[in-house]
Amino acid sequence: MARKYTILGLIGDGIAHEIVPEAVKVLRALDEVYNLNLEILGPYPFGAKYWLESRRKSSWHPEITRELIYEVDGIFKGPVGLPELLEDVKLNYEVGFLPVNLRSELDLYANIRPCKLRPGVKSPLNGKKPGDIDFVIVRENTEHCLAEATHFGGIRDISGYFERAGKIEFAADVYVQTPKGCKRVIEYAFELAYNRNGAPIDGRKRVTCTCKWGLLRGDTLFKRTFDEVSLKYPDIEADYTWIDGWAYRAIMKPEFYDVVVTPNQYGDIISDLAGAIQGSMGLAAALNAGDDHAFAEATHGSAPDIAGKNIANPLSLILSVGMLLEWMGEKRKDKNLKAAGRQVDRAVDLVLSEGKVRTPDLGGSSTTQQVGDAVVEKIKFAASN
Ligand code: ATP
Repeated sequence: MARKYTILGLIGDGIAHEIVPEAVKVLRALDEVYNLNLEILGPYPFGAKYWLESRRKSSWHPEITRELIYEVDGIFKGPVGLPELLEDVKLNYEVGFLPVNLRSELDLYANIRPCKLRPGVKSPLNGKKPGDIDFVIVRENTEHCLAEATHFGGIRDISGYFERAGKIEFAADVYVQTPKGCKRVIEYAFELAYNRNGAPIDGRKRVTCTCKWGLLRGDTLFKRTFDEVSLKYPDIEADYTWIDGWAYRAIMKPEFYDVVVTPNQYGDIISDLAGAIQGSMGLAAALNAGDDHAFAEATHGSAPDIAGKNIANPLSLILSVGMLLEWMGEKRKDKNLKAAGRQVDRAVDLVLSEGKVRTPDLGGSSTTQQVGDAVVEKIKFAASN
């Protein structure tokens, strides 16, 4: 009997209630087809709504202990956040920062966000076809101005509002970058590039460093660290562009990019740009990865504008759980698990290239469940042939 793998599921808010069950469906199908011996815990409620319902006592379901999140082989979660809470920074530290907490709690320093134009999908960029756009953003995940406060002994107390007579007179956020944080994520990016096929434009393996060095000290440290790390990878082209220039070039010539590494906040912003150029946020997958742990989540938020309508595209999270299985397969040296993860990507491409089943964000009229079912069908069909 193969070893057992335990995966913890967390639901989240908004469209999480629609897309998480589809990711579970796909995991169960892979378990059956590949004999993975997966145990899925939950998925348990998690996030802003749960926090409100528990009368602001806890964001965590009682079944989820701190030990458990360290013990499981992997975690997946739906997006978190309620728009009505967004105006309040204090609340956001407790609620909106939940995923950030999980990232720093488990020290998941690299957020891997592929941007790929898939068959049958139309990019808003004129004339681009599948294969023209295929890069990965590696977003630093534990530092910058989104750093989890406790990580650095009280940054939250330095950031804040200065108020006089109840009026905000001054607001400050602290931006932290450490040599260790820069080095490990930049190394991750180079290792990733090493194992990829290079940029679509010329097949060259390339890592692009993007931030605003020269103006900001943290970014200058990031760039200097990149200079040092890149020397260890002479076969990979080290490329540089300021973050504003990157946003321009990504639209004008996305095929130039292979792997792009960037500090936390910039990564957050350019990931939405990448979501758009690959045709929809509903295709934007992500994996938060560290040396020992990982959790899968889609790049996007809880999409309150479409929540509850059964039209959310579940492929973002389905692709993310595929990435998680691949990561687990690599970590545990389990080729079967890795193959199962890779199969998710292929099954999604097959569904998209046929073009029959797709949600409205991709110009179709299918429901969230129909898309999940179509992916399962492709996985089962591939196994029976
Ligand atoms: P956050 O800052 O929490 O990541 P956001 O501000 O980036 O959130 P999203 O919730 O990601 O906002 O939504 C951005 C847009 O993308 C919305 O119009 C939303 O409907 C759309 N969108 C996001 N996810 C999906 C999905 N899975 N399927 C279809 N459309 C989506």
